[in-house]
Amino acid sequence: MKTPIYLDHHATTPLDPRVLEGMLPFLREHFGNAASRNHVFGRNAAAAVEEARERVAQAIGARYAEIVFTAGATEANALALLGLAEGEAPGHLVTSAIEHPSVLDNARRLGRAGWSITVLPVDRHGRVGPEDVRAALTPHTRLVSVMAANNEIGTLQPLAAIGAVVRGSAALFHVDATQALGRVPIDVEALGIDLLSLSAHKAYGPKGVGALYRRRRPRRVMLGPLFEGGGQEDGLRPGTQNVPGIVGMGLACELAVSEMPTERPRLLALRRRLQARLVRELDGLALNGHPEERLAGSLHLSIAGVEPDALLLGLQDVAVSAGSACSTGAVKPSYVLQAIAAADTTGAAQAQQVAALRLCVGRFNTEDEIDRAAQRIVERVRVLRQAA
Ligand code: PMP
Repeated sequence: MKTPIYLDHHATTPLDPRVLEGMLPFLREHFGNAASRNHVFGRNAAAAVEEARERVAQAIGARYAEIVFTAGATEANALALLGLAEGEAPGHLVTSAIEHPSVLDNARRLGRAGWSITVLPVDRHGRVGPEDVRAALTPHTRLVSVMAANNEIGTLQPLAAIGAVVRGSAALFHVDATQALGRVPIDVEALGIDLLSLSAHKAYGPKGVGALYRRRRPRRVMLGPLFEGGGQEDGLRPGTQNVPGIVGMGLACELAVSEMPTERPRLLALRRRLQARLVRELDGLALNGHPEERLAGSLHLSIAGVEPDALLLGLQDVAVSAGSACSTGAVKPSYVLQAIAAADTTGAAQAQQVAALRLCVGRFNTEDEIDRAAQRIVERVRVLRQAA
């Protein structure tokens, strides 16, 4: 079978060959442990880690000492939430209904440990209201955690407005920017962010490596490690550093930022082309997420009159993800789609038998691929509707 057309860049992205090239020496000759400072192998590894730290910091407007490398954004989110709670009396946390499970499940864990948790609803486009954040704040609120961009529907949050609200309080602002890295500009100063999670594999870097930005100035955010061990990463992430992964993450961040000015409009044009073709050729489609305030490459569509399982089964040559707006059996309803449906007073999103397709265009997709993928989706939906 021919390799399917990859349109699932929310799930992961392919490794950029330039990132791979930069990583290879650290899998071969520069194999040293970055903690072995008394010989050149270790010193080379340590220098590469510090260079990567600087690159990651630059990508988000931070200083290099504010970057803690982790094994991905799941761990960075856990370190932000649980690390802040470590050794402290339970407080209050504000988050949103459409956060990634690595935020929501750790919020629930804090809830079991005595924290009070406010889970804010979103509007029908999946946006969190800055005024809702303001209304939720109490003198005990320690943390507000809102993602930059949603991994299902692509909606961007009004981070600057939320950051301004949080800045006026005693709480800290955590942003899960996993889906935003390299896709929209991020500046922790301009947005008033205190903690920010990143993952390399969503930005054409390797899997299993990420970072947590932790503000140091003017107020140092105090965190405890998730587990004990060596003193690596300022004591916050003990364990031998993943040098090739960290090097790859640094390069991926550098490329993401330097190529964003050309990549973003290109992805926007490709996504609009895909969207326009599908909407022109099929009726019964509804866009999920915000029409404008969304990631350039991201397209999430509900498709009336087809079974979610049947749709995916027939789309083997296009790699996409599915989510269902309602429970029609095997496909689990998506909590993100349920959250936007709850805010939709028109009831349109609650229609029965709605399959949803999550598509996300990426760096290596071509116009020809977009056209072929659109054609396959149109064909498949038509066949299923005729059979129904
Ligand atoms: N947050 C968001 C918004 C994500 O999309 C993901 C990955 N699906 C994560 C966190 C977890 O990232 P990682 O795969 O690096 O653990």
